[in-house]
Amino acid sequence: MESEDLVELPACLRGMRRYALDGALLVFDRKTGVTAICDGEETRHLRRRVPRVVQFAITNACNLGCGFCSRDVDEPSAWTVDSAVEILRDLSRAGVLEVAFGGGEPFVFRGFEELLWRLQDETELAVSVTTNGTRLDDALLDRIDGAYAQLRVSAYDDNDLPGTIRRLAARGARFGINWLLTPARLPRLEDELIALVELGCRDVLLLAYNGDDRSLHLAPASWAAAADRVARLARALSSRVELKLDICWGHRMAGVPQLFGVEACAAGSDFVVISSDRELRPCSFHDVALPIATAADVLRVWSAERERLASPASRPGCARSTDYGYARLRLPVVRS
Ligand code: SF4
Repeated sequence: MESEDLVELPACLRGMRRYALDGALLVFDRKTGVTAICDGEETRHLRRRVPRVVQFAITNACNLGCGFCSRDVDEPSAWTVDSAVEILRDLSRAGVLEVAFGGGEPFVFRGFEELLWRLQDETELAVSVTTNGTRLDDALLDRIDGAYAQLRVSAYDDNDLPGTIRRLAARGARFGINWLLTPARLPRLEDELIALVELGCRDVLLLAYNGDDRSLHLAPASWAAAADRVARLARALSSRVELKLDICWGHRMAGVPQLFGVEACAAGSDFVVISSDRELRPCSFHDVALPIATAADVLRVWSAERERLASPASRPGCARSTDYGYARLRLPVVRS
């Protein structure tokens, strides 16, 4: 029994999974995603023992060819359904709460639907999937109904996002949209987000671009105005949609209200990435990549390599770099 299991909880929280933070206790319901943090004298001694979330790039393969994607889509995955279940079952037993599949397009991985059901039946993990949505027809959604906690659909211009949102909303699926905010999309910010809400989307995550294409980075001169527009939009739509920023924005959206949860990047600590070639990375943009094969390897590397896992990614856009890596792209240098 772990020390977090000994903390007394009110009856309404007792059925939830427990996860020790440093000095506090997080409790979590895998079906609804409901999370609560208990913080007091009785939790002061607790220490984080394992990562809370594993992001799993189960495959690099994809059925789309987006220009901004830097993955080698021809590189075969080193995972099978059995080996993925084994490592995730052991991580679940060790205390990990969630697995978030991405890639690549998870639904092109052979046996992915079986993998979802086995994780549902054989682990306590909450399973989410980030997908381009192109395979989410009614037949597939029927087959995986009950096998996932959340779907996240990436917004592209050519993946029939409206049709996918209508299908997901009509069946009451738990889902959100990942929306990459680029200079080309900034003028359409309000129109596109309001359209998503009208279609039935209640959760939008605004992503910052990480990579070498300088045309996809918002110029520092536009940050303040963009932050102001995002904040206004969030206030205007607050009763209809949860609008969130991804962690890589750092302080580039400094004027956005706290309800967005802008905080220090927890890559390599709160969450880690397992890649399709069996490496552990702090995040999917990071060049630190350490070989792993088993859950024990994951936990050993996570404990022993804290410093490397907490380092900045070299790819431009990383909020851990003092200038977001912009000097390399010859964008105006900024201090975060
Ligand atoms: S390490 Fe950098 S690139 Fe990776 S998630 Fe954190 S801020 Fe983003």
